Amino acid sequence: SHEIRTPINTIIGLNEMILRDTESAEIREDAENIEAAGKMLLHLINDILDMSKLKSGKMELIISKFDTAAMISEVDSMISIRAREKDLSFNVEVAKDVPAFLKGDDVRIKQILINLLNNSVKYTNEGSVKLSVNAREDKDSDSVTIIFAVSDTGIGIKKESIPYLFDAFLRVDSENNKMIEGTGLGLSIVRQFVDLMDGDISVESEYNKGTTFTVELPLGREGQELIDMAKTRGGVGTRKKYVPMFKAPDANLLVVDDNSMNIKVVERLLRDTGVRIDTASSGEQALAKTLINRYDIILMDHEMPNMNGIECFHRIREQEDGHSSDSKIVALTANAGQDNANLYANEGFDGFLSKPVNSELLEKEIIRLLPDKLLV
Ligand code: ADP
Repeated sequence: SHEIRTPINTIIGLNEMILRDTESAEIREDAENIEAAGKMLLHLINDILDMSKLKSGKMELIISKFDTAAMISEVDSMISIRAREKDLSFNVEVAKDVPAFLKGDDVRIKQILINLLNNSVKYTNEGSVKLSVNAREDKDSDSVTIIFAVSDTGIGIKKESIPYLFDAFLRVDSENNKMIEGTGLGLSIVRQFVDLMDGDISVESEYNKGTTFTVELPLGREGQELIDMAKTRGGVGTRKKYVPMFKAPDANLLVVDDNSMNIKVVERLLRDTGVRIDTASSGEQALAKTLINRYDIILMDHEMPNMNGIECFHRIREQEDGHSSDSKIVALTANAGQDNANLYANEGFDGFLSKPVNSELLEKEIIRLLPDKLLV
């Protein structure tokens, strides 16, 4: 995971700068496609990692309140780019009675939808792909069943193949699918997530006509407000112009990372906030700098040769006469996921960000940790 995430971090991070800086519509469109491809690649890697976690029974859901429309429109913007590449029409239909806020694991729900929709786009050569979202009242007023249906006018699945669809690494109808890339992992992961959520998945398909996957998930209802998709229209060309969330020209940051590209990505992403950035390419170098300099925030990589980020963190804290022994220290690492978030929290880190760096989360984390007087 670490080895793959590092180059993706560079691709997504520096591409973000192109998106921010370019005045050319053509370059912007290219960069948006790179962004979508980068996210897709990341998605694939996460699938592979999830598969091993699911196998060892270590997968846990993270349940929280989420904004239904925001979740759906993120899926929408990822899939619409892919559908457009293949000249397929892609429609999202959301019933009016779907709650605006739900409680569940939105990251995993997104993953289920993206896997199903990706398949639809992959296995459809002409026509359309559709996502529809409906709600069914439960007896219990605190919960609601959300029904997601993903349908396509694609190649379809033979009846005799349906029982094997959800097996890992199995690709049905391989004769016809030879030309289509795939790992056979997607549906197996979808099935396991749906089971973890106590949901249901079913499939209806007609060979050479099309397929519909239906996923029913019991979710928590958060409030009575109903969804309004108009509030969150996404997609290519609608990206808002970037403005930094804050400026802090008097703030001092130290970025510790043995990979110079990772450092460059952080420097570039924070450029417009005006923060002063110092860098260290090893734990040892970081300690030499924290001894004599005062940093407001230190962004610390984990895996580095000789001294890793956790050891470096403790050594900074214990540094006698160190000028940064009480700095805010954030783990910024390619070790993603909740397990790792817990690991760094238990060690005493003040925050955690995973690579590839999401510039919005990075800015939010800095705002959270900087003293107010430094924010302008
Ligand atoms: P893959 O990486 O091969 O797409 P999946 O587990 O996602 O793996 O899917 C397993 C198999 O199910 C695919 O190889 C394909 O044969 C079939 N399949 C999945 N979704 C569709 C679809 N929407 N239309 C036709 N066939 C599908």
